[in-house]
Amino acid sequence: MPTTVTRQDPRFPIMRHGNNLRFPTHEEDYAGRIAYCDSPEDAAIALQKVLDAGLRPTVRSSGHCYEDFVVNNPNGAILDVSLLNRVSTGPGGAAPYRIQPGAMLGVIYQELYKRSNVTIPGGTCFTVTAGGHVSGGGYGLLARLHGLSTDWVSAVDILTVNAAGKVTPIQADATHNTDLFRALRGGGGGSFGLITGFTFNQLPPAPSQVIETGMSFDAATMTPEKYAKILATFGDYWQQHDQVKETWGLFGMMYFHGKGSNAAISINTQFTNPDGTVTDLTVLKDFLARFDAFQPTTRQPDLRPRLWIEATVNGGGGPLSIGGGGRAKYKSAYMKKSFTEAEALAFYNALQQESSRGIIIAVDCYGGAVNNPARARDTAIPQRTSLMKLQYQTYWNDPADDAARLKGIRDVYTAAYSTDLVDPAHKGTPYPGDHYDGCYMNYPDADMLDHPFWTDLYYGTGDTHPFLRKVKNTYDPHNVFHHAMSIRP
Ligand SMILES: Cc1cc2nc3c(=O)[nH]c(=O)nc-3n(C[C@H](O)[C@H](O)[C@H](O)COP(=O)(O)OP(=O)(O)OC[C@H]3O[C@@H](n4cnc5c(N)ncnc54)[C@H](O)[C@@H]3O)c2cc1C
Repeated sequence: MPTTVTRQDPRFPIMRHGNNLRFPTHEEDYAGRIAYCDSPEDAAIALQKVLDAGLRPTVRSSGHCYEDFVVNNPNGAILDVSLLNRVSTGPGGAAPYRIQPGAMLGVIYQELYKRSNVTIPGGTCFTVTAGGHVSGGGYGLLARLHGLSTDWVSAVDILTVNAAGKVTPIQADATHNTDLFRALRGGGGGSFGLITGFTFNQLPPAPSQVIETGMSFDAATMTPEKYAKILATFGDYWQQHDQVKETWGLFGMMYFHGKGSNAAISINTQFTNPDGTVTDLTVLKDFLARFDAFQPTTRQPDLRPRLWIEATVNGGGGPLSIGGGGRAKYKSAYMKKSFTEAEALAFYNALQQESSRGIIIAVDCYGGAVNNPARARDTAIPQRTSLMKLQYQTYWNDPADDAARLKGIRDVYTAAYSTDLVDPAHKGTPYPGDHYDGCYMNYPDADMLDHPFWTDLYYGTGDTHPFLRKVKNTYDPHNVFHHAMSIRP
C-alpha cells in the first residue's frame, strides 16, 4: 500500500519540496498529498486512486528537476517513486540489468560495479535518480566514450492511462510499442506516464582507473584577448577530435566565473583511455599542453591515477535525498562549433557586469559516441552533432534575492546569444543552426516558454517534436501527465 502524506502531516513541509527550494512558489501551488509508492503495483493502485478522485497526478522520482514540474500541483497528488529504487541483474551479475526509477546514480554505479563491472554513462550527482535522468537523456563524464544513458535502454516499463481513464501497464521496447519506446528515450519525464523500470540488455564496461586534473586562470590578470584565446583553444580541441576515438575517454569541463570570483576561467578534466586504463597519457598530456601558453595560475601538479568507482561515487556529493539544496536557476545551450572571438567577448563582457556575481557557466565537452546519427532517429534526442554543452547556473538562499538572481542569469544568457551567430528572429537563444543546437530537456528553463518556438530549442526543427505529439495523443489522450514544458497533445 502506498504511504500518503497529506498537508496536515508534520512531514509535509519538507516533502512538498524538490531539490530546488524556489518551488513550490506560492502556497496555492502546493499539492494536496504525496503518495510514496514502493512497488510498480503500488504505483498503479495509487495512480488509479488519484484519477478516480478526479485529481491531477504529478510524477516525481528524486525531485532534482530544475523547474517546478515535480512539486507545483494545486491540491493535486504527487506520486513519489523514490522508494521504487532497486538495481538488479540476471544470475551471476549477467544481463539484463534492471533499474527502477527511484535508484540514485551513486547507488546505480556502485551496484552495477559490484555485481557486473559495467556502468551507465550517467551524470555526476550521486542523488539524481534514473526516472527523470534517463528519460531526459542522462549524460556525464563517460558520454564521449559511451554516449547517453538513454542510448543503452532496451525496454521501459510504464503505467499509462487509457482513453477510459484506466491505468494500463505497458512495456515499450524495440518490437512492442516502438513509438513510445523512442519517445521515452530522451523526450523528457512527466509527459507520457509513470515509468516503473528500465531494462538494459547490454551496458559498457566500467573503467578501471581515471586521472583528474584542474587548472585555473586568474581574473585579476585576465584580458579580453587572452579570454578569447583560452575559449577557442578549448573549443577547437573538441572540434578537431570529435571523431578521434582514442580521445573519447577524455572529458573536459571549462567554467566561466561571474564577477567577484578570483578565477575568470577554470578547466577540469577526467581521463581514461578507451580500454579503461591510464597507462598511456598521450591524449591527456597533449590536451593539457595546449593551455601552457596561457600560464594557468593554479594547476593540479601530479597525474595520479584514481580508481574510477571511487572518483565517480565520492565526487558527486553525499547521499542526502530529502529536503533539497537551495534556490537555483539554470539554463543550457548546445554548441556545434568552437567559440568565435565575438562570442567569447560576449561572455567576457557579460561576466564583468555586477549582476553576474555568483553565476557559473559550465562548458562540458560533448559528442564522440553521443554523435551517432542513428541515435537521432531511434531516440528523442536530436542533438547529435554538438561538441559542447553549456549549463548556466546560479545559487542563492534568500527569497528576497530571487528577482535579481533571475534577471542576472537571464541577462548573461541573452547577451551570449545576441551576437551575429543568431539570426534576428531567434536572438537571445541558441536556436538550432550551424553554430548552436538548442537546449537540453533535462536542464529545463521555463524562460524559454516566452518564445513561441521554444519546442524547436529542445527538440530541434526536424521530426522529433511532431513525432512526440503523435505519441502523446496515442498514449496519453487526456493529457493526464503534464507540466509547464511537457509534450502537448
Ligand atoms: C545537482 C544536480 C546535478 C545534475 N547533474 C546532471 C548530470 O551530470 N547530467 C545530466 O544529464 N543531468 C544532470 N542533472 C539534471 C537531471 O538529469 C534532471 O534534473 C533529471 O530530470 C532529474 O531526474 P529525477 O529522477 O530526479 O527527476 P525528478 O526531478 O523527480 O523529475 C524530473 C522530470 O521527470 C519526470 N519523472 C520523474 N520520475 C518519473 C517517472 N518515474 N516516470 C515518468 N516521469 C518521471 C518528472 O515528472 C519531471 O518532469 C542534474 C541535476 C541536479 C539537480
